Amino acid sequence: MQLKENVSLKPYNTFGINVSAKYFANFTSLDELKELLTNSKFQTPDSYLILGGGSNILFTKDFDGFVLKNELKGIGLVKEDDTFHYVKANAGENWHQFVLHCISNNYAGIENLSLIPGNVGASPMQNIGAYGVEIKDVFYELEAYHVNDNAVQKFSLEDCEFGYRESVFKRKYKDQFVILNVTYKLRKQPLFNTSYGAIEEELKKMDVKELSIKAISQAVINIRSSKLPDPKEIGNAGSFFKNPTIPNEKFHSLQNEFPKIVGYPFGENETKLAAGWLIEQCGWKGFREGDAGCHAKQALVLVNYGNAKGEEIYNLSSKIVESVKDKFGVKLEREVNII
Ligand SMILES: Cc1cc2nc3c(=O)[nH]c(=O)nc-3n(C[C@H](O)[C@H](O)[C@H](O)COP(=O)(O)OP(=O)(O)OC[C@H]3O[C@@H](n4cnc5c(N)ncnc54)[C@H](O)[C@@H]3O)c2cc1C
Repeated sequence: MQLKENVSLKPYNTFGINVSAKYFANFTSLDELKELLTNSKFQTPDSYLILGGGSNILFTKDFDGFVLKNELKGIGLVKEDDTFHYVKANAGENWHQFVLHCISNNYAGIENLSLIPGNVGASPMQNIGAYGVEIKDVFYELEAYHVNDNAVQKFSLEDCEFGYRESVFKRKYKDQFVILNVTYKLRKQPLFNTSYGAIEEELKKMDVKELSIKAISQAVINIRSSKLPDPKEIGNAGSFFKNPTIPNEKFHSLQNEFPKIVGYPFGENETKLAAGWLIEQCGWKGFREGDAGCHAKQALVLVNYGNAKGEEIYNLSSKIVESVKDKFGVKLEREVNII
């Protein structure tokens, strides 16, 4: 563990934004984390940021504090019962590698979440989700370190208060805890979930004779690779905005005005709108100003074509929010963490 000063964060965020951190260090154990947090340079006014894979962050300025990169590694089976394997992964494990590990051991439940960038530790932060599955569906518990109380605390499913791209760690406990490890409850007998998106179609294309979690994972990998820009080629953080939810009544009145509006039932009284569709209707798809842009195939994904500043991407996102509000009266919320 080494505390470095004035480190460029460009390699550490998938948007590829070139800002610097005043202090930067990796930690590979809880002891190292504690040592960093008690460093004499780390004083209360100094902010700190726990960094995973940097795939859900937009840096808009230099970070005037400590960036602590989580490198806690290790995966293990902690217990099992008739129905589940309980698998614990340390927060610094790469998410997709963890998914592949589970698939090769026949632990079922997260195959639909294949190829999501980032690390295990961030998976509960926004209750990651894709193709009809969210972390809350397989979550058992996690351990997190309270920075001020100096203590490790366990969180159950209820404690995390998961919602759509939400958890307590994004709201009431924001910046208070460092997630150390997460235990997932994974099925011995898979419950295949192929109804979402183009999974069925892709499985047919792949000519899959016998359905398996491995086949579903591969189908999801194929679909995602064909649809989403690869951050190694074009900087991005996936969906920039959440899909907004509105009361059914408002949805019906929007339907009268915009018959093609895309919406899905969300609970009994609300409808979830496709933010990408709203953005596209406002003419942003494929828009580019300097190196900041809105992806040509996925309007929900904002991109850095090379040397965009975080502020430029943020300003573009504000213009998008404004125009969607003007046209549809719907407020878009950013999914990406703005730093
Ligand atoms: C191409 C692409 C596709 C994507 N697709 C999806 C998708 O389908 N579904 C989805 O939900 N997301 C998706 N994302 C977003 C992103 O991959 C996830 O949100 C992921 O969980 C972020 O992980 P990370 O390790 O990169 O987090 P980071 O970006 O490093 O951090 C995100 C936030 O979590 C905090 N944090 C990270 N680790 C910890 C920790 N151990 N303790 C406390 N706080 C922590 C950070 O401080 C920050 O506020 C996509 C991103 C990209 C680039």
